[in-house]
Amino acid sequence: MIVGILKEIKIEENRVCMTPAGVEVMRGRGHEVLVETDAGVGSGFGNDAYLDAGAEIVASAEEIYARADMVMHVKEPQPSEYPLIRTGQIVFTYFHFAASEQLTRAFMETGAVAVAYETIVGKDNSLPLLTPMSEVAGRMAAQQAAKYVERAQGGRGILLGGVPGVQPATVLVIGGGVVGTHAAQMACGLGAKVYLLDTSLERLRHLSEVMPKNCFPMMSSPAVIRELAREADVVIGAVLVHGAKAPKLITREMLATMKRGAVLVDVAIDQGGCFETSRPTTHTEPTFVVDGVLHYCVANMPGAVPLTSTVALTNATLPYAVEIADKGWHQAARDNDGIRAGLNIVAGQVVYQGVAEAFGIDC
Ligand code: NAD
Repeated sequence: MIVGILKEIKIEENRVCMTPAGVEVMRGRGHEVLVETDAGVGSGFGNDAYLDAGAEIVASAEEIYARADMVMHVKEPQPSEYPLIRTGQIVFTYFHFAASEQLTRAFMETGAVAVAYETIVGKDNSLPLLTPMSEVAGRMAAQQAAKYVERAQGGRGILLGGVPGVQPATVLVIGGGVVGTHAAQMACGLGAKVYLLDTSLERLRHLSEVMPKNCFPMMSSPAVIRELAREADVVIGAVLVHGAKAPKLITREMLATMKRGAVLVDVAIDQGGCFETSRPTTHTEPTFVVDGVLHYCVANMPGAVPLTSTVALTNATLPYAVEIADKGWHQAARDNDGIRAGLNIVAGQVVYQGVAEAFGIDC
């Protein structure tokens, strides 16, 4: 198969969908790999590294779309690319179709095959191509919180871990899934006192077994959040309710009771945010202040650390890309339920129920 690696053109996106190491694996399986020129530069991979791995460097996205059997991206194709996508071509990337009727209808018209990273399912029913980005965002949340509680950044002027003889900061993490666990681990590692809240008792049992001694897993409820928000120097929002907008867990009223200069990091902002006062921000202007409390609400946190994010993402996508390239999408979907779950649109038909339901399209 001819596999095309496109350069990301969405604003603030520096990741690339395959590393040179991935290209070498693809070449080893006998596939041809076309890489758009400078596709890896934002992630620290120059054209030479791809050439050394056996790729052909191609001048334009037009040529990649014209020649490749399967094209890969990180983000969804942008409107300028819609006319380039060919009937029968496989497009393997994050699509998030349910968030855009325009993209869904445009893709249906191409007659191509959309395999969406975000709906591929692992053997344990996990979402293996979403997990690495949650790991990155979770770890980054603690790092950003540590930075923004510093005085010069507008925070209270506090060191998360304290020092001998001085109290550490109190960090409240709401949501004990992938993001929350990674955020809590990092905050614990820095020496903070960490409360980690979840609504699942089973999850809390697991967390109390595996988390360090300075992490206190607790059942999430409005009363507990109200009490701990008053004490917290940092609150990290990391909840997810599948198929729904994030619930507003810190209300405007609670905000008024928080310490001035405390920091809220709303990782769930991509699902609407879990604090009433959150609104999406960008890496260029990541924070704003409401009632003296700093809000960090960047919707694409992994975009700030493309070198880490690219490798984390491609570690997860490569095995699926190789299987699709080896077998073709049809056979790969037959053999692998996870890949079948990744099929969203095939030859003009929406085949993923969530997307069909979002826009009242027959599935
Ligand atoms: P996850 O499913 O692994 O974990 C979510 C957890 O939230 C679950 O354990 C669930 O039980 C818990 N939860 C649900 N309601 C709760 C409540 N009321 N109180 C406490 N806990 C509650 O999801 P995840 O991968 O950790 O993702 C968390 C959020 O982060 C999602 O909204 C995801 O889209 C977002 N995210 C954002 C970025 C970014 O760049 N901003 C990057 C990755 C993920």
